[in-house]
Amino acid sequence: MIPWIIRHPRYIGTFGKMVRSFRECETARRVFAGNGTVVPPVMILSITSSCNLRCPGCLAVAAGNIRQSHATHAIREPDLTHDQWRSIILQGNRLGVFCYTVAGGEPFMYPRFINLIEEFDNRLFVVFTNGTTIKETAYTRLKRMANAVIVFSVEGSERATDDRRGRQVFERAMKAMNRMNDQGILTGVSVNINRANVHEWMASYFLNDIIHMGVRLVFLIELIPTQQPLSGEEIFLNESILTPEERAAFRAKVLEYKKTKPVFLLHSPGDEERLGGCVSAGRGFAHVTPSGDVTPCPVSNVATHNLTNATLEDAFKSAFSVKYERMNIFWKPRECPVPSLLTRKK
Ligand code: SF4
Repeated sequence: MIPWIIRHPRYIGTFGKMVRSFRECETARRVFAGNGTVVPPVMILSITSSCNLRCPGCLAVAAGNIRQSHATHAIREPDLTHDQWRSIILQGNRLGVFCYTVAGGEPFMYPRFINLIEEFDNRLFVVFTNGTTIKETAYTRLKRMANAVIVFSVEGSERATDDRRGRQVFERAMKAMNRMNDQGILTGVSVNINRANVHEWMASYFLNDIIHMGVRLVFLIELIPTQQPLSGEEIFLNESILTPEERAAFRAKVLEYKKTKPVFLLHSPGDEERLGGCVSAGRGFAHVTPSGDVTPCPVSNVATHNLTNATLEDAFKSAFSVKYERMNIFWKPRECPVPSLLTRKK
């Protein structure tokens, strides 16, 4: 990141402030841990239940966090207000949370989240977007900040992206990403890795292209279904989930990229190998749904506290006494690297 920061001077002052804030957060978390409250360094805020796209296999839909006509869960609770999100971030800051990942739904359909990035300029905000609803004013405001990374969700090539997300989604997302890169806004890409696009990511041309465009952060998230396939779905899932051989080959390729490419690369679940398993449920991060439920991760719908009537400290003190086995909503593909979490409950 150092060469990138030097090329974008507005980040230089912020960098020092961020390092100081990061250390203060570490100290705060240590103090709370001493009192039995495990505070994660990262919180994922699913800030809105609205989204303009209808991507098959959307995990936010599967977890019941999104308002869509095809969603299987009816959402009755309203989204939290701006003031409620603000209060959650204030509480998180006091407890030692350093990074807020803003997800959804589609965050840019809840434009006031940018106020939060502006206000809390000593915290890092990583915003996941499909890139198709960003308004003119958002570019202008983000251009003035140095504490946000905007991460665009694509599948890889134009064809792979549009096949899943809809016509011209790739073109619109790339246009938005290029514009942000031109304005010196830090950008990233998030990809759902499956059998349809893994070959594009095994070959490095698309990765090289986006690095050349200015991207400095890449999330490679392997498709993990949330339930054992029913007989009718078996073919779809078998065709979509990486085989053990593909998973091993892809992991080896990711480790090679990590050594050779000038980009910060996160691979899930592969990176969990060195972290001793899943880092959700407060170990590394926790999640808040659009209506304020605190859950272990964005694809889990197990919650013990809702932040409209409980504090974040209360939630961190006891929410994660929910045992991992209650979260085992995933079907475990063979050779999956996080067996402790991904074993399906019998
Ligand atoms: S853009 Fe994201 S949140 Fe919206 S439907 Fe697609 S995967 Fe789900």
